[in-house]
Amino acid sequence: MKTILITGGAGFIGANFISYFLQNNTEYNLVNLDLLTYAGDLENLKEIENNPKYTFVQGDICDRNLIEGLFTKYQFHDVIHFAAESHVDNSISGPEAFIKTNVLGTFNLLDTARNLWMSAPNEYVANFKNSRFHHVSTDEVYGTLGETGLFEETTPYAPNSPYSASKAGSDMIVRSYFHTYGMNVVTTNCSNNYGPKQHNEKLIPTIIRKALAGEEIPIYGDGKNVRDWLYVIDHCKGIELAFKNGKAGETYNIGGRNERNNLYIVDKICDILNNKTPRKAGNYKDLISFVKDRPGHDKRYAIDATKIENELGWKADENFETGILKTVEWYLNKFKA
Ligand code: NAD
Repeated sequence: MKTILITGGAGFIGANFISYFLQNNTEYNLVNLDLLTYAGDLENLKEIENNPKYTFVQGDICDRNLIEGLFTKYQFHDVIHFAAESHVDNSISGPEAFIKTNVLGTFNLLDTARNLWMSAPNEYVANFKNSRFHHVSTDEVYGTLGETGLFEETTPYAPNSPYSASKAGSDMIVRSYFHTYGMNVVTTNCSNNYGPKQHNEKLIPTIIRKALAGEEIPIYGDGKNVRDWLYVIDHCKGIELAFKNGKAGETYNIGGRNERNNLYIVDKICDILNNKTPRKAGNYKDLISFVKDRPGHDKRYAIDATKIENELGWKADENFETGILKTVEWYLNKFKA
């Protein structure tokens, strides 16, 4: 049975991925390495913590000795790398952690995999070209779009925040390990995710949390920034497909063709809340408050997912309206518990 190293599996997407993947792929063991920063939460993994095919290790991807020890101990056949500092606002106030984890941490993982896998044949990797290193990345590396156009895999990188710059740097290192060493890498660049288990600091949980608490709901600038929203399980399905069937050295954009601006999102969530749990003091929309825009705030992101759709047969199952309903219901349970 092969063992996959999952990094950052106590975070939002990693935790959703581990639960989804374990349910649908019984032929793998998973080892989840996560530092448990403020963004990691083992509560996210409660439903699988006793699964015999799952192991948790607390540790830092920047710790080279630890990574080498884990490769030797668990004999990882593959890596799926989620761990990152992921919040753009934090990257503006404190960029250093982003460079360390996202750039140096990714390098540590890749370079350890190169050293150990390429010394094959050994017990656990018969041919290093069969061992996949899957790097999970973002569409923010492409910068911002005007009113029209879509990000394609060939769109030049133009990151605008320390977060996106650090992810762009990590993508380039991953790319170089294919071209230089022939490693079997694949990178997926996904649009904004939403769904259960996202950290409270992110837009959609913030809207729901503030609304339920009767507090002002902060919206940056004029609320017209557009993102291409994807339900997290659809992202997990895209990662699974690219991990298994993606071509070595390729990148795949993942996005649901669900462009929505922030005003639409807050309106939609307030409509659902007005319906499900009416507010005595009036409409939840009365709480919306416009705040000073984020510096360097990208105006619009939108993904062209044709490549992963055509080559790997991926398609989003949820549109924004079905996905947001499930999401609000999940947070209603969480915040009211
Ligand atoms: P998250 O912030 O919710 O989770 C990140 C996880 O990584 C946390 O559990 C944290 O403890 C862990 N971590 C951080 N630094 C670490 C370190 N040095 N060593 C080990 N673990 C560490 O992030 P997320 O939203 O789940 O994003 C996961 C990945 O997907 C990231 O690489 C991110 O760039 C990418 N991505 C996110 C989105 C999105 O909308 N959230 C979209 C596209 C791509």
